[in-house]
Amino acid sequence: MLLCMRWEERKSGFALPRGTRVSYNSRNPKTVTMSAMPAVAESVPQINPKYCCFRLRVGPSSIHRWGVYAEERIPARRKIIEYTGERISRRETKRRADRPYNYLFSLDSYWCIDGSVGGSGAEYINHSCDPNVYAWIFKGHILYMSARVIEPGEELTIDYMFAKDVPKVPCNCGSPKCRGTINVK
Ligand SMILES: [Zn+2]
Repeated sequence: MLLCMRWEERKSGFALPRGTRVSYNSRNPKTVTMSAMPAVAESVPQINPKYCCFRLRVGPSSIHRWGVYAEERIPARRKIIEYTGERISRRETKRRADRPYNYLFSLDSYWCIDGSVGGSGAEYINHSCDPNVYAWIFKGHILYMSARVIEPGEELTIDYMFAKDVPKVPCNCGSPKCRGTINVK
């Protein structure tokens, strides 16, 4: 049974590497959307302070729609925020990955956290190829940690590491180290 599932997974190009965000519309590349700014009428998403160790805010981002910004100095190697949400199976992940915007983070090869349901706000942290945040998976929790000192006003970013075998999503991170796509090479 397990072998069968693995085969099916390979056939559809759908894999869940641990500790990565799931690519938008991985089964439907024609509808991949990377609009720069949120619609005017859209209300600003909020950070849930319960899961947050530093003062953060959500605001429009030049990288992609909304972004998360530090409101105070964050030292290196500190827990910033937990990525929370509904824990869903691989089958359900595959279904939800088809949405124009998804907030899916893989916990392991089977489980994903969907930040669109009960998300702490960490799901709005954008991708960069030269990020200042990394994810640490510990006892079934996804903890976002500072990779270096982050100054007040800086946008928090993490490497989504989309799989290389799913449709390529262009990257807008603007870093000199930008690899051109959110997918890993
Ligand atoms: Zn980039």
